[in-house]
Amino acid sequence: MEIQERLRQIPKVDVLLQTAELSALIAEHPREIVVDAIRAVLQGLRDEMLRQNSPDLSRPALAEQVRREIERRQGHHLKRVINGTGIIVHTNLGRSNLSQAAIDAVIKAASAYSNLEYSLETGRRGSRYSHIEGILQELLGCETALVVNNNAAAVLLVLTALAQGKEAIVSRGELVEIGGSFRIPDVIQQGGCILREVGATNRTHLRDYEQALSEQTGLLLRVHTSNYRVVGFTKTVTLSELKALSVKAGVPFIEDMGSGLLVKLPQQGLDEEPTVQESLAAGVDVVTFSGDKLLGGPQAGVIVGKRTLLDRIKAHPLHRAVRVDKMTLAALEATLMHYRYEREAFQQIPTLQKIVLPLDVLRQRAERLCELLRQASFSAEIVQEFSQVGGGALPIQNLPTWCVALTVAGLSANELELRLRMASPPIIGRIANEYFLLDVRTLETQEFSMIVEQARMCFLEQ
Ligand SMILES: *Cc1c(COP(=O)(O)O)cnc(C)c1O
Repeated sequence: MEIQERLRQIPKVDVLLQTAELSALIAEHPREIVVDAIRAVLQGLRDEMLRQNSPDLSRPALAEQVRREIERRQGHHLKRVINGTGIIVHTNLGRSNLSQAAIDAVIKAASAYSNLEYSLETGRRGSRYSHIEGILQELLGCETALVVNNNAAAVLLVLTALAQGKEAIVSRGELVEIGGSFRIPDVIQQGGCILREVGATNRTHLRDYEQALSEQTGLLLRVHTSNYRVVGFTKTVTLSELKALSVKAGVPFIEDMGSGLLVKLPQQGLDEEPTVQESLAAGVDVVTFSGDKLLGGPQAGVIVGKRTLLDRIKAHPLHRAVRVDKMTLAALEATLMHYRYEREAFQQIPTLQKIVLPLDVLRQRAERLCELLRQASFSAEIVQEFSQVGGGALPIQNLPTWCVALTVAGLSANELELRLRMASPPIIGRIANEYFLLDVRTLETQEFSMIVEQARMCFLEQ
């Protein structure tokens, strides 16, 4: 049969709508939704035929396809996934999970009116930043604080408000690209500042900064090289030296810290990541950091430091454009409260909790998951591997961990990975040495049964 003739066998939308199966759907859903789904299904049939296939054109089969298409469109596009990658702060998977207290705070903020910008003392307009100012002062000893949409916005806002039309002096070793489109030189330009690079990629001396100072200098900028390290023959200027220079020059000293670590990490090797407190103690005037990296809270950019400078930043019109939402503020306040008791921070904040999980606990969990998979007649083994903190933090520190290597006879690691990624919920692992691995560091133990069930549906029940 000619292809044109075969295509003519596909029923028209109107005709399909008259059938009993589909008129039943119209009773349940708005007509446009059913019609859109029918069009999508019919287009699929045409594509099939053009590929020389012969799809089932019976009315019940078509009605079933339309019903499934409506269901598929009803599912949320943003959905929960199971993170077996071992990357704790995984930007593509949403970075940090919130603590229970932070989740509760978000729900409260979302479901009732609040004193977001209302002073209960005076009965007048208040400030949305008052809610986190006190706790940040307590934790960090800063004069004041401000929160914006994310750290990229924080850096842009600080540069724009404090040094527009002037030079920002930065070491050549710190011209970071974070990923996506965030590059320090571009952000400086976007902020209306002129980039004044000093030093060399591996070595920058105090005299390099000194020689760059001029009437044009707007500020000194230090950028934490969060996602890479320059190693070998290197030299950087200390924060205190830069502070002294900025005082002499009469310009502000700004630091973009990236990660926002508030507590020292106890593990060997992780203890080198600088904390916000250390920067403030060294005299940095304004520090910016992310809310959802090592801090373990919601996406946000936190700006802390000198009141005179933060007042200028708050008054800048760009500030309003990068304003933070009430749910974010609620989650951030609750997250910060955990840090009042350091032990509580490590117990309650999922990101910190995962970083400090002991190796023997990880091993026990891997053994448990392995056993569950074997009981479901899969072949699985535990292997020692490395996790990553992620989010551009601690780039060269690999955390020893335990993974489960899952194999299915006749399937490559890539095929296995693809099928589990298409599961519901999707299970995201990683492939190493041709093995599909699930790193238990980023899995919750409650997710083990879901993994086994999904693996069963993907590989056994076919
Ligand atoms: C991650 C990072 C940023 C960007 O922070 P976001 O919160 O992702 O906007 C900026 N600077 C540094 C040094 C970073 O590590």
